[in-house]
Amino acid sequence: MGMLVKYHLYAPGPVEIPPDVLTEMSKPIFHHRTSQFSEVLVNAWEGLKYVFQTKQHVFILASSGTGAMNAAVENTLSEGDKVIVLSFGKFGERWGKIAKAYGLNVVTLQKEYGYCVEPDEVEKALKEHPDAKAVLLQHSETSTGVSSDLKEIAKIVSKTEAILIVDGITSVGCDEVKMDEWGIDVLVAGSQKSFMIPPGLSFIALSEKAKKYMEKSNLPKFYFDLREEEKALKDKTTAWTPGITLIMALNKAIELMKKEGLENVIKRHTVVSKAVREGVKALGLKLFCKYRLFSKAVTAVEVPEGIDGTQIPKLMRNKYGAEIAGGQGSMKGKIFRLGHLGYVDKGDVVVMLQALEFTLRELGYKFEPGVSLAAANKILFEEYEF
Ligand SMILES: *Cc1c(COP(=O)(O)O)cnc(C)c1O
Repeated sequence: MGMLVKYHLYAPGPVEIPPDVLTEMSKPIFHHRTSQFSEVLVNAWEGLKYVFQTKQHVFILASSGTGAMNAAVENTLSEGDKVIVLSFGKFGERWGKIAKAYGLNVVTLQKEYGYCVEPDEVEKALKEHPDAKAVLLQHSETSTGVSSDLKEIAKIVSKTEAILIVDGITSVGCDEVKMDEWGIDVLVAGSQKSFMIPPGLSFIALSEKAKKYMEKSNLPKFYFDLREEEKALKDKTTAWTPGITLIMALNKAIELMKKEGLENVIKRHTVVSKAVREGVKALGLKLFCKYRLFSKAVTAVEVPEGIDGTQIPKLMRNKYGAEIAGGQGSMKGKIFRLGHLGYVDKGDVVVMLQALEFTLRELGYKFEPGVSLAAANKILFEEYEF
């Protein structure tokens, strides 16, 4: 029998939940067609605007993040529309699959995993396809740890007739995403990522330009029909039964984000992600992201030669108490992913890297013990703000 090992969840979603938020979820349920719930809902809508950095309404859907991706497509586009999908990982491929499921004409700008489509390539594609109605991409591609140059891409798309549809599921609330200022038309997020609450809610906001697309959209829709939600919001309610408890939790989580300040929340993710990357590099490991921008939510690491990559997440979870993620699809066994979003601070960096060192040591990888912790601490000493 071994000694106590605490469990920590360092996946790129779901993430750990702050104690205050857990307590909030233990409160008794009540009915949603009441003024009591309207108050909760209006509060959540206001809070989401703060995190989305928008004046637009942010719809709350009862689904995982993919539901809002689905809603983004079916509410804005029409039969046979041409769309440009930026595909540089598993979630980009998901945009392609959703668009194809609705019979849209998909032009794919493909990049090898670990890289990203450059803004000038988007510009070129829009010139080649002036009839394209939308550009779809991930801000943070969770499967590879790559971040796209969203701000520059938004500048380019705003100059055209096309709308920009962004999966910000692992960037909204942990990286800079200025929906209105940058000109993002549709922005999607999910509860189990930076929002620090369990899975089950997704969020979506539309610009004025996207709302015009919505008026004309003729793709089949029912459960995620945002026109129904628009009607309901006038009465401070939702079209269907909302995730009451999760919305209460959301309010508590946003209260924590407001208390820290969004700017500090983003700075914290910037510093923490940098410390994790420096720690990993100090071990002699290679980052999977070869692009100039890294995700603030997740760091993907190449499995060193001679090590069974599938063992890394298993040992970290089952023996050393830190649940991380392996590679998805063809990246399985070749990379592992350290999640550092939501309820994470300086201490989590050390716990995560320590568990990684124990794991690598067990798998026979050679390194100086503590080297990753020292490298991470160097960054944290200099950049973590108190
Ligand atoms: C988690 C995630 C999603 C949504 O996945 P769900 O399982 O539907 O919540 C979508 N895009 C990205 C980039 C993600 O990280």
